[in-house]
Amino acid sequence: MATIGNPKKAVIIGCGIAGPATALFLKKAGIDSVVYEAEARADDYSGLFLHLARNGLQVLKELGMDDQIRREGIPMHAMKMYSGKGKLLGIVGETAGEPQGYTIKRGMLHKALREEALRQGISIEYGKRLKSVDANELRRVDVTFEDGSTASGDFLVGCDGINSRVRKIVMPAAPAPSYTGLISFGGFLKSDSIACEPGTQTMVFGKRAFFGYSVRNGEEVYWFGNMDYPGEPSRRELQSIPQAEWRKTINGLYEDDIDPIPEIVRSTKDEIGAYPIYDMPPLSVWHDKSVVLLGDAVHATSPNAGQGASMALEDAIVLAKCIRDIPNMQLAFAEFQHARRDRVERIVQYSRRIGQRKHATHPVQVFFRDLMMPLFLKSASKGSNRWMYDYKVDWNDKAVR
Ligand SMILES: Cc1cc2nc3c(=O)[nH]c(=O)nc-3n(C[C@H](O)[C@H](O)[C@H](O)COP(=O)(O)OP(=O)(O)OC[C@H]3O[C@@H](n4cnc5c(N)ncnc54)[C@H](O)[C@@H]3O)c2cc1C
Repeated sequence: MATIGNPKKAVIIGCGIAGPATALFLKKAGIDSVVYEAEARADDYSGLFLHLARNGLQVLKELGMDDQIRREGIPMHAMKMYSGKGKLLGIVGETAGEPQGYTIKRGMLHKALREEALRQGISIEYGKRLKSVDANELRRVDVTFEDGSTASGDFLVGCDGINSRVRKIVMPAAPAPSYTGLISFGGFLKSDSIACEPGTQTMVFGKRAFFGYSVRNGEEVYWFGNMDYPGEPSRRELQSIPQAEWRKTINGLYEDDIDPIPEIVRSTKDEIGAYPIYDMPPLSVWHDKSVVLLGDAVHATSPNAGQGASMALEDAIVLAKCIRDIPNMQLAFAEFQHARRDRVERIVQYSRRIGQRKHATHPVQVFFRDLMMPLFLKSASKGSNRWMYDYKVDWNDKAVR
């Protein structure tokens, strides 16, 4: 195995969450990068919203970017979970102290990371859809994009999301993402008449589908739903369904549910976004030669635990520390995988288990779910999820075993 000395230039594929965050931490470690994004331009309005958990916020704090999230996000101290009949099944979280996280518009997080990267002189190139990768172990990687242009560097970081082209090229035998059987959809609604306790997210196992909402400053409702959906739909397929059809389906799904769900759904006039939910079976190896994968490209999770973005941010800081502190690239990548794998697999599993409860619509399943749910929520609330939320990576600690 070659010792290669400190690398100087990274090629980063993908400018979602992991890509610019990795570029920022590499910059802190003295390594330059260029971020290559397939989309033709930045789109700050795409995607709905996500929950940035406090472990993810902790990573942004290392970049001096946490205040913006606190300012613009909806703090979530506690989650109140109801049955379809309106019975309170449990409360997770604490109303005092630091929130479990913040609900933020996805575009806002993308924009904040992108603008910070640009402010620090990191280049982001759009319209660069990765086509091929030629990598070796001796600090060299050459890539070609679909527009025929090329780029090279000492190593490549694949931050190109769940359908990662990097993964398909360098690990062709890796398992494909697996469909959970659920889709997610949702939207925003300007309204000051929807009641919601500040700092609380309300979740309901509705009669036909799951529903969740929170309210920003008493005037804007962020809502989402999950429902069973057959086949293995792609995002594009769901996007091609006309809005009028989504509205009809979703209004029908929730028409018999407790207030204020039918009103929220009925009153939403802006676009309703829909996404299929996939997650990744565990990958035994996360790197090959001078290429390493992180974020959704290597461990995409279903959104039920609200941890995908936070895990991508954690990966970014841990990878940069490993490259900063371990001069042999292969060993640095191996240490990165070692430091991260058990944690992310535990979170992917945990999130999948939550999702399985959302499938139940048969009366017998519903009966047992509503019976068991208070116990599950009690244990989640008693600090058993601290392993997930209180994880901290200190930039100043050495990344060595
Ligand atoms: C419905 C839904 C709800 C979610 N809710 C939450 C939540 O509440 N909390 C949470 O933490 N997470 C949530 N997630 C998960 C979260 O969005 C992801 O975990 C996170 O975006 C991963 O970041 P990433 O940078 O690894 O990948 P992405 O954000 O997917 O970014 C990948 C980037 O790579 C680009 N790209 C793709 N292919 C190529 C190519 N060939 N060449 C160049 N560029 C390419 C893409 O255009 C994209 O910009 C949710 C996901 C979904 C689908």
